[in-house]
Amino acid sequence: MLSQRIQNIDFPVFGRIAALARNKDVIRLDAGEPDFPAPALIKDAAVAAIAADYNQYAPVPGLEELRRGIAAKIQEREGMVFEPLSQITVCCGATEGLAAAFLAIVNPGDEVILLEPAYTVYTPDVLLCGGSPVYVKLSPPEFRIERHKLEAAVSPRTKAIIINSPHNPTGRIYSQEELSVIAEFCLRHNLIAITDEVYEELTYDGVKMERLWKIPGMEERTIIVSGFSKTFSVTGWRLGYVVAPVLLSRGVQLAHNYLTVGTAAPLQRAAVTASQMPADYYRTLAALLQQRRDILLDGLRKVGFECRCPQGGYFILADCSRFGWQDDWSLAQYLIEEIGVAAIPLSGFYKKYPADNPVFLRFAFCKREETIRTAVERLQRLKLKVK
Ligand code: PMP
Ligand code: GLN
Repeated sequence: MLSQRIQNIDFPVFGRIAALARNKDVIRLDAGEPDFPAPALIKDAAVAAIAADYNQYAPVPGLEELRRGIAAKIQEREGMVFEPLSQITVCCGATEGLAAAFLAIVNPGDEVILLEPAYTVYTPDVLLCGGSPVYVKLSPPEFRIERHKLEAAVSPRTKAIIINSPHNPTGRIYSQEELSVIAEFCLRHNLIAITDEVYEELTYDGVKMERLWKIPGMEERTIIVSGFSKTFSVTGWRLGYVVAPVLLSRGVQLAHNYLTVGTAAPLQRAAVTASQMPADYYRTLAALLQQRRDILLDGLRKVGFECRCPQGGYFILADCSRFGWQDDWSLAQYLIEEIGVAAIPLSGFYKKYPADNPVFLRFAFCKREETIRTAVERLQRLKLKVK
């Protein structure tokens, strides 16, 4: 009874790991969701909005005030100028924004280039549009974008490429040079670039996140997807947005209209408050996460995992090869059942995990210090047990 499109997709790795960890004494470093509170100011704004009866539909593409707030925030922090009403769409998380963006541009039979490891929604989104994902594998441990690999993946049917920086799960921020490679590639082959920038405010050690949109020629073919989940620690609010050139933005707004008729009105009001946070808010959040990253990084390295220091985002990718497990799933399962720590197997970010890749697990550090320290303490038992 199911459509072919639905039969072509599967649930992502996160639910399966969560199911293994449920009702067990397990420290959850699997999900990219904070276990610390969201800012009081915006929680109060949400409560006030409900009490003030902002409880009916908001305008479908998003509250005007919110779209103006998002445009002002982007202009202030990045110097990029967008027309709020024709270029910005408020969506149900970046997740819906991505789906709307793909629906806006992908015809059946079109190919879309995805860089693996690829965040888990890109493949299903492309397949649900009737498109074909074409994979370019980034090589560990650097996971750098390489021109020759892109060129080998392109065909006359290629319509778009999606990139994600800061990157889930590697923590990489693509350099200006890598973005130039992407831009030249898009211009040469007339492709649209979707850039998933949900971790844009979570950058560490003073590393600056460069923007594809700013490279000459890219402003007319770049769709930016971002959101409130990570920047304001409200993953459950399901608030994201898409910023695009007017023509593409109209396509996104059409798709969004029929997918959702808009996102929760009172939460959009609270997001207006969020969009007006001073620069200090972003500095403090990034500093807090950098400190949590450092505690987890140090702990994982002491246990014996090989880890690159992530430049941004929520995650550390740990090479666990030396512990002797054949595959990441059995190690993840062992950690949940015997050690009491949940992490995500990297193979969940691949169509087919390369046989010669190391065994990697992804650990989230968007957690309270105590959560991370307890997890690290437990992981020490892995060292004792295996060595
Ligand atoms: N893109 C990436 C790379 C993510 O990691 C996530 C969430 N973890 C999303 C998109 C979706 O974010 P949202 O909660 O805004 O739907
Ligand atoms: N994006 C979250 C992560 O990478 C997962 C979101 C979800 O599907 N539960 O951990």
